[in-house]
Amino acid sequence: MDGPATAPVSIDACQGCGACLLTCPTHAIRPVPGGLTVRADRCTGCLECLEVCPVDAIRTVTDRRGAP
Ligand code: SF4
Ligand code: SF4
Repeated sequence: MDGPATAPVSIDACQGCGACLLTCPTHAIRPVPGGLTVRADRCTGCLECLEVCPVDAIRTVTDRRGAP
């Protein structure tokens, strides 16, 4: 796989409501022990997950943009 190492968004302080998992159109968000992870090879950066998170746990990761 040649996808980016880091997804356009990251998740911190998740409360486990599950809204983002249901919203993500590419199923990039997956449960892992202790929280959630965003698959870099699936996330398109659409930011729909940010819109639905009730506790603002999802953040953009902008410093990777433009990497070859
Ligand atoms: S930015 Fe879009 S594609 Fe990426 S995890 Fe959030 S909802 Fe899914
Ligand atoms: S929407 Fe926010 S609080 Fe809910 S599962 Fe996703 S990251 Fe966690």
